[in-house]
Amino acid sequence: MIPIKPHAYAELPQEFYNLQNCHSFDNPLLVIENSQLKQELGLENIEKQKLLDIFNGSSSIENLKPLSMAYSGHQFGQYVEQLGDGRGLLLGSIDSSEGLVDIHLKGAGKTPYSRFGDGRAVLRSVIREYLCGEAMHALSIPTSRALMIIGSDEIVIREKSETAAMLARTAKTHIRFGNFEYFHYNNKPEHVKVLADFCIHNYPTYFSKTKNKYEEFFRSVVEQTACMIAQWQACGFSHGVMNTDNMSILGETFDYGPYGFIEDYLPSYVCNHSDHQGRYAFKNQPYIGLWNCSALGHALSSLISEESQDEILKTYESIFQNKLAELYRKKLGFINSHNEDAQLIQGLLDIMESEKLDYTNTFRNLAQAVTEVKTNELNSDVAMSWIKSYQERHNKESEPIAEKILVMNANNPKYILRNYMAQEVIEAAENSDYSSLETLIEVITFPYEELEKYEHFACRSPDWAKNLEISCSS
Ligand code: AMP
Ligand code: MG
Repeated sequence: MIPIKPHAYAELPQEFYNLQNCHSFDNPLLVIENSQLKQELGLENIEKQKLLDIFNGSSSIENLKPLSMAYSGHQFGQYVEQLGDGRGLLLGSIDSSEGLVDIHLKGAGKTPYSRFGDGRAVLRSVIREYLCGEAMHALSIPTSRALMIIGSDEIVIREKSETAAMLARTAKTHIRFGNFEYFHYNNKPEHVKVLADFCIHNYPTYFSKTKNKYEEFFRSVVEQTACMIAQWQACGFSHGVMNTDNMSILGETFDYGPYGFIEDYLPSYVCNHSDHQGRYAFKNQPYIGLWNCSALGHALSSLISEESQDEILKTYESIFQNKLAELYRKKLGFINSHNEDAQLIQGLLDIMESEKLDYTNTFRNLAQAVTEVKTNELNSDVAMSWIKSYQERHNKESEPIAEKILVMNANNPKYILRNYMAQEVIEAAENSDYSSLETLIEVITFPYEELEKYEHFACRSPDWAKNLEISCSS
């Protein structure tokens, strides 16, 4: 028995989606399967080939109601009326111990929402999405995850011709801020209510049914979003396309496009080369998160008064700041919070910026600075003076150094997914060699572990990769 069942979303009124099947590849091939996730979902007894056939649509599960969702959204600050799953398909869901898990296909062919698109995704982009989901998951950041990549010999045209591929991914939900905006801007407040009720009913661990349930629903989305973005900032993750149609109502990172992890620390880092204004620059992400929440609030204005919206939106900043402060405290190895911490953290970030230090490695090697006068990275006069204040701050806590270093090593990854690493495995995969993809996944799956054989993965990017331009087409 395959435990994938029709998604509850298929019970919603017809305007919410289009029922349809996957457009199969003629010659599908298995690029990679996520055996860990398969096991977590109780799918381990299903053979690879069987699962591939189901995702490719060459074999079907009875009574399943795959659907493409209708949504709209704000893209780069502008409202776009017609979005929706132009190449995505919500296949069904699995009941897990933690609640519903969506099974979604990306690149499953044309839908009524495809506009001028071909409904496909390219191998390069689905590999990047697969990698980042696993990397974020290993860093304990809420994220969609991939179950499988199916390759093909179908040619699609982007900047050049490439082969199409499909990503089977899981997420707690595929309901985006944009699903609410779609009904709000189409003057369908009754459907905004239906959708809010659907969320409150189907995601009980996130939303309570008590009085003021719509306010509480919005409060919870705002809180999850603020926490998720604090986690992005702490690990140096830049999403690249924070449009409201890419924002999950359950605060999971998803729809990975031209993302990047900060290497040389630069707050104005923009990973998306089409983002000429730098709207989604690394340093803007916290503010954009709030902007997106207020766009959602606006879409909920038939359910929540403006005063309540404002009150709830006002909580965003302190939730974000407190979460980020907590994460930074762990990265610095502090057990308790002290007044001077914010200044100390800013001091370190300023040094990293002016000395162009690698964000991940500086934090990872900071454990040395608890007891020594310098580290590989921190060796300038300004840095030495910072280390002195840092050690004085540590001396205000009585916990054993060894305990603090354990905390630091569990919060400062040794390995981060650098763009050039993804690029190398993509080039190999485009030549049908998937072995380096498997190795990279092994590395990013255990980001905090010291593994001698993988030492080179902890190095800064080579010079050729410093200005690597990641194509935004996908
Ligand atoms: P994304 O940039 O992947 O978040 O996509 C933004 C919007 O464009 C969504 O509505 C997608 O479904 C749609 N889209 C992106 N690529 C394609 C494609 N190749 N074919 C059809 N629709 C697409
Ligand atoms: Mg999207």
